Amino acid sequence: MLILTCPCCGVTAEETEFHGGGEAHIKRFGPGSSDEDFHGYLFEKVNPKGVHFERWRHANGCGKWFHAARCTVTLEVFGTYSAQTTEPPQDIKDKISAKRPGWSWREFA
Ligand SMILES: [Zn+2]
Repeated sequence: MLILTCPCCGVTAEETEFHGGGEAHIKRFGPGSSDEDFHGYLFEKVNPKGVHFERWRHANGCGKWFHAARCTVTLEVFGTYSAQTTEPPQDIKDKISAKRPGWSWREFA
């Protein structure tokens, strides 16, 4: 069972109280971008076995969006944080690195 804590209101609950919103930290392409970039934005998502960053909405609570860093294999949640960030906070990246040696934050152009 996946247990998440909403960083906006502080409530900890089962995932059924939340609604998943897909991959976090994707670079968006809009009008004026190349077809290849827009295709990648729409259809090419990561589906890792391990550390993953996702968007979640506290649908049955405060209604706000946030990001979660978790392991897709063990369901371990490394942390949740504001959706108004371009990458995870350093303390969460450090926590992941301590538990998953060799892991590294990917580069976003
Ligand atoms: Zn909330």
